[in-house]
Amino acid sequence: MTKTLIIGNGNVLTRDPADPWVAGGAVACADGKILALGPTAELRRRYPGAEYLDAQGGLIMPGLVNAHQHTYSAFARGLSIPGNTPSNFAEILEGTWWRLDRRLSPEATYYGALSFFLESLRCGVTTVIDHHAGYGSIAGSLFGIEEAARLAGLRACLCFEVSDRDGPDKAEAAIRENADFIAHARAAGDGTIGAMMGLHASFTLSDATLERCRAATPEGVGFHVHVAEGMSDADHCRKTYGASIVERFDRAGILGRNSVAAHCIHVGRSDIETLAARGACVVHNPESNMANAVGCPPVLDMARAGVLVGLGTDGYTNDMLESLKAANCLLKHDSKDPSAAWAEVPAALFSGNREIANRVLGADVGTLKPGAGADIAVFDYRPFTPMDASNADGHILFGLSGRQARHAVVAGRVVYRDGAFPALDGEEIAAKSAEASAKLWKAVKDA
Ligand SMILES: [Zn+2]
Repeated sequence: MTKTLIIGNGNVLTRDPADPWVAGGAVACADGKILALGPTAELRRRYPGAEYLDAQGGLIMPGLVNAHQHTYSAFARGLSIPGNTPSNFAEILEGTWWRLDRRLSPEATYYGALSFFLESLRCGVTTVIDHHAGYGSIAGSLFGIEEAARLAGLRACLCFEVSDRDGPDKAEAAIRENADFIAHARAAGDGTIGAMMGLHASFTLSDATLERCRAATPEGVGFHVHVAEGMSDADHCRKTYGASIVERFDRAGILGRNSVAAHCIHVGRSDIETLAARGACVVHNPESNMANAVGCPPVLDMARAGVLVGLGTDGYTNDMLESLKAANCLLKHDSKDPSAAWAEVPAALFSGNREIANRVLGADVGTLKPGAGADIAVFDYRPFTPMDASNADGHILFGLSGRQARHAVVAGRVVYRDGAFPALDGEEIAAKSAEASAKLWKAVKDA
């Protein structure tokens, strides 16, 4: 048994309906799991030799989940590519993202992922579901990202975006990378690192490639794919295959309960019914959708139809609370209804993402209750109005930002403490990241 850890002296928001709020409370954990919740003094008496982490009167809650992220985009921060002035979504992909990912070295992939993972923990995010593209160095890339995730100390579910855009050999290499990593993650099976079959998007995947992906994916493993993000993708599918993207992917058998369909912007009523019937996970990325000017997905219709909806950031930020705020405003603005989305947006982040993470990782995180995985975030938040579980979502939406995260605990291990990473050499990581990103920028600009 590992040493017991107590995170105490805070208000505990458990997300467990049986015991939703412990004022002035604490959480005790050992062996990666939660042992007990209760008043701080009582738990410290019960576990006298435990390590103690002081929440300093802040908010103790389940670690957050980012359900759609691209760590390969980390080193685009601050990058400006001469002559790249995209006027539509296809040009954004070609001029920025494909140009960048074709030049990713193993170092840039690793340090980019590590930089994003550390920033995620700084925002209280303890699980990241990543969708990797890196056509400059395919083989071994997911294993490098896993190494970064294990060093940072968070949970991650990884995959590589298969695409025909760089020819059949690279598509085949991407399928192989996914298959190798799926086998590796299943053999480890510790609920820390998960794997999926990654697919880019309908318009860069032929039927033959889709079929090879399906054949290379073991039973029970899901697919992670962009669905109807750009109108041009939806039009291409209708013209080429005589079907909507959801219909095409459903026929290919890739929309099961463990699959993540990112965006789902240009979907119709029957697509929504299909997503609900298959139990697929849809992930909304509000900032990305607004900034790429691709439209607003029918999140409220999907939620009403029983589709499992989660929230991601799609490379824009690592702060899930920023994504929460953006989704709240976007869905009200888009529906022209100020009373919309109060329930659906918090449900997407706190219930949807929990369910998605647990499906794709085979873990039990997102609820603070005895026996569950001990993934915990502590935020510096002292409410100046009354707060308990019944109005916590309002406090979080208006009062909390990811940058207020003070501590993060993953599987009972304190990986982020008082604004620092106790097990890591931050200076060295920053220096190596600066070096790798400068090299990448040069390659991208010289191309
Ligand atoms: Zn994406």
